[in-house]
Amino acid sequence: MRISIAADKCMGHGRCYSVAGDVLSDDEEGFVAERGRTLEVPEGLAAQAEEAADACPEGAITILDA
Ligand code: SF4
Repeated sequence: MRISIAADKCMGHGRCYSVAGDVLSDDEEGFVAERGRTLEVPEGLAAQAEEAADACPEGAITILDA
């Protein structure tokens, strides 16, 4: 699975890395550190990635392929 995180939509709510700490991390300002990137979700962490996408109030996280 790959996910992409839209840098222009991320407002730094922090919900994504709170529920998916094995996939995403925060930067020093509270934004998701991986914003603006497309990343491959490690094997076994797809459920966390989906939770992160569901948790983001800005819809910044898109699941590209499941
Ligand atoms: S939950 Fe959404 S808005 Fe908040 S840090 Fe994560 S990607 Fe950004």
